[in-house]
Amino acid sequence: MRYALHMETQNREAGDPAAVNPFRMLPQVDEVLQRAAVAPLVAAVGRDLCRAYVQDLLGDWRVELADGALDADGLAARLADDAGADGLARVLAARIARERGRGVRPAVNVTGVVLHTGLGRAPQHPEVAAAMAAAAGSYCVLEVDRYTGKRNRRDDRLSDLLARLVGCEAAIAVNNCAAATILALATFARGKETVLSRGELVEIGGSFRMPDVMEQAGTHLVGVGATNRTRLGDYSAALTAETGLLLKVHRSNFRIEGFTEETSMEDIANLAKAHGLPSVYDLGAGFLNEGVAGLTPIEGLEGEPLLSEAIASGCDAVMFSGDKLFGGPQAGLIAGQRGAIEDMRRNPLYRAIRLDKVSLAGLERTVELYLEGRGDELPARALMLRSADELKGVAEELAGAVRGLGSAWEVSVHPERSQPGSGSAPGVYLDTHVLHVRHADRSADELADALRAGDPPVFTRVTDGVVKVDPRTLLAGDRERLLDALGQL
Ligand SMILES: *Cc1c(COP(=O)(O)O)cnc(C)c1O
Repeated sequence: MRYALHMETQNREAGDPAAVNPFRMLPQVDEVLQRAAVAPLVAAVGRDLCRAYVQDLLGDWRVELADGALDADGLAARLADDAGADGLARVLAARIARERGRGVRPAVNVTGVVLHTGLGRAPQHPEVAAAMAAAAGSYCVLEVDRYTGKRNRRDDRLSDLLARLVGCEAAIAVNNCAAATILALATFARGKETVLSRGELVEIGGSFRMPDVMEQAGTHLVGVGATNRTRLGDYSAALTAETGLLLKVHRSNFRIEGFTEETSMEDIANLAKAHGLPSVYDLGAGFLNEGVAGLTPIEGLEGEPLLSEAIASGCDAVMFSGDKLFGGPQAGLIAGQRGAIEDMRRNPLYRAIRLDKVSLAGLERTVELYLEGRGDELPARALMLRSADELKGVAEELAGAVRGLGSAWEVSVHPERSQPGSGSAPGVYLDTHVLHVRHADRSADELADALRAGDPPVFTRVTDGVVKVDPRTLLAGDRERLLDALGQL
């Protein structure tokens, strides 16, 4: 902007009376704010913010003028569009709409990826969402026992609920499973060695790689076994006076097939106990598929390790995400033996990563739903339980509705596969039926872009040059939102 102003001075000094100085065509900010066409924007975002948007816009145009990317004619066209209307106000409105359209907001997911990290992983059950909203909007009983008036701990009730659900002695909740893993490592193995199979040196996503995580937690990684095979003897051979912890990490986002061997958590836990060492299991998904009243086993996920079995293995603690297959709000849950849980609670790191009241309220209600025999109602489960037959019916009905939008639309229904997502259950697919959607005037990418930018945003999948709409991940009300979005194009 400073550069632009400098140019403006130079232009003036050049003093060519014949040339229009385009910088002088730019309106004053205060004058813009007083225009009738800008009044709704001022009302929507407030005068100060609107002023900042106007300044930004005029600043950008100044830079374009200084760069030569924009000339007087071009600017004139922008200031008054073809219809003679206020072009600046129109561009300003579009900018503000785009700016306000960014950020966290509800979206329609028809990608078929149930736990889509980009779209917030597990959507919440209405009763869970209501509990979260209620906790957010008022004071709430968080660290006080309302029956005695004494101070207590924010996750005491959650701990009791998880004990009933999965048979652990106690549990605590932190921000996410990555945080839970760091807390466990820092509590049990700081300044010592952590023994982990070379087949489990996983990267969970982004920059969360096991070796780096260990370094952050101040523990020294001792990799044992080979990528494809690790036996119990590999673990016992690695134990030294420096060993602090035996760790198992579930390979939640990839699969090793062929000549493989993996040591069970139970065997590792027994070995640890025999040497007076702790052992922990970074499980990731926290899946329940049986042994809980009212749960219908989810087909295809039989191979996914179960939370209850991980707890029963006898290790000191199991870490899992609240918002993967468990189906609740984002959290890192640590369930295990009382002593180990207390050790982690006493670590000052716990205070820095503990969970907030809103997520805690949601998690309590999530676990209650499982205990009430209503676990299948949790959207993450309910969506995965939808059968290919049921989805075929939904897809065909939807296809008819899209055809009804006009002759520019071309739709067909095809068998496809959905995914659990979120790095859960690698190689597992759920049979579904998808719509292939084509529009006479738009390419697949244009169509997908327009849907994403719309209100509400709709996320589709584009493969083989066609937009695919998987009805598996439609939530209540989404069918109408999707048709509205298509209708607006
Ligand atoms: C997903 C995952 C994590 C990270 O969980 P977040 O809740 O996303 O932090 C850690 N460990 C394993 C094994 C996982 O699958």
